[in-house]
Amino acid sequence: MTAPTQVLEVMKKKDNARVRMWLDICARCGLCAESCHFFLSNPDHPDYTPAYKNKPLLLAYAKKGDLTSEELDWLTDYAYGTCNMCQRCSMYCPYGISIAFLTRTARSIAVAHGRTPPNLARGTKDHLEFGNNMAIPEEDYVETIEWQLEELQEELPEAEAPIEKEGAEVLITFNPRDIKFYPQNLHAYLKIYNACNENFTMARTGWDSTNYGLFTGDDAAAKYMSGLVVDAGKRLKVSKVASAE
Ligand code: SF4
Ligand code: SF4
Repeated sequence: MTAPTQVLEVMKKKDNARVRMWLDICARCGLCAESCHFFLSNPDHPDYTPAYKNKPLLLAYAKKGDLTSEELDWLTDYAYGTCNMCQRCSMYCPYGISIAFLTRTARSIAVAHGRTPPNLARGTKDHLEFGNNMAIPEEDYVETIEWQLEELQEELPEAEAPIEKEGAEVLITFNPRDIKFYPQNLHAYLKIYNACNENFTMARTGWDSTNYGLFTGDDAAAKYMSGLVVDAGKRLKVSKVASAE
């Protein structure tokens, strides 16, 4: 058995009244079913329909948070394995029920019990520790920018790749995957911004536009990660932030 109050605490923080109302009013009408790519890919499995994905959360309420370990496994499997929180089904629901929000509530329960899937847990940990989800050191990040600028200048000799330019109009942020594995994407971004004559900058810290805290359902981590980008924007006094995600 798990600690019921822990589950209830998470549910309370997640705007209890709204979650309860959505769980109560879902008519299981199935109007949203064909909007979900999980169900479309597995049409013989009704448990992939959006409404079915509420079941673990309904059970958590029915049992006042007193879930067994097996039930928590079930909730975790559903929360991470059957919904990517795309929100498409909400567009089809006559009540505007957000299955994505309910899924994220279920994910927060999983996080509170240390059941974050290992890959997401690693990305979250790296982001918290290194400021980006691939643990790229600042030195490597800056070198990659300089390397791509050098290549770009063969084509556009006047091209620039400013870092920490205060007062620029736009702060560009990246998916760390582009920096680590696809520097040609960085090349393309720089080319576009230079060709458009944008007043842009990159930041030394707060440049990762991904948010593993959001994916995992870890609210504190999500807030911290967004805060890194907000801090960079404020520090550099930009008026816009361009997100790669
Ligand atoms: S939010 Fe989840 S359930 Fe709804 S369409 Fe997207 S993946 Fe399917
Ligand atoms: S979420 Fe909305 S559309 Fe989907 S089954 Fe429930 S009431 Fe129907």
